[in-house]
Amino acid sequence: METPENKLQQALQRFAVRKGLASASSLRFRAALIDMDGTLYDSMGHHTLAWHKMISDLGIEADRNRFYLFEGMTGKATVNLLFREYLHRDATDEEVAELYHRKTVYFNEMTPVKPMLGAAQLLTTLSDAGVTCVLVTGSGQRSLIDRLERDFPGIFKPELMITSADVEHGKPDPEPYLKAMQRAGVTAAEAMVVENAPLGVRAGAQSGAFTFGLTTGPVPVSALADEGADIVLPSMQALADLAPQLPLAGK
Ligand code: MG
Repeated sequence: METPENKLQQALQRFAVRKGLASASSLRFRAALIDMDGTLYDSMGHHTLAWHKMISDLGIEADRNRFYLFEGMTGKATVNLLFREYLHRDATDEEVAELYHRKTVYFNEMTPVKPMLGAAQLLTTLSDAGVTCVLVTGSGQRSLIDRLERDFPGIFKPELMITSADVEHGKPDPEPYLKAMQRAGVTAAEAMVVENAPLGVRAGAQSGAFTFGLTTGPVPVSALADEGADIVLPSMQALADLAPQLPLAGK
């Protein structure tokens, strides 16, 4: 029977071969590059509802579940995509600012989101093993970024946070993950990415890091596998439970 442990070992072996290493036993993950929404926080329900409410204000009818597929993109890129599709033009900078602000207000009006189950456990395992944790988010919403220190104390140093303000090209471009590796001083073979969204998985996989896809929302396993996830797990808790089996630096 294929256990999660077996699945992981096979995925690590394939990754090692891709990196030109003799076997998975030569692997060492020295940095973990971790997405925020839908990964560390159970926040995607709120985000999709806020986007849907904002776009409905413009008289546009869009399926709320579509917003799960835009996840990972910056607010600006999402507004532009919606404008091109429904209004057949790019949004002006003023429109982008106004509409992203409105979406953020709707988000902040909802009940506070909770950390994802298993997130604190994973971060503790990684940091105890001496792994550098880097936040890699397309978000520019301070309400959640500013909560990280309270919810996960001592894990993410300010210089080890890549947000929409730090990149020219957001996910699905690999730039945010490449920048994160640079800040952590690691190569792609020494980095693991943790993502929940198809576009985020694509960014992680194209950066060359070992990429975990977590199905924490309605997006199917195949959507993450198709974008190049090295392994897809059913929850953050599942990854936290497997983490002691990973080739973590310092072990
Ligand atoms: Mg996410």
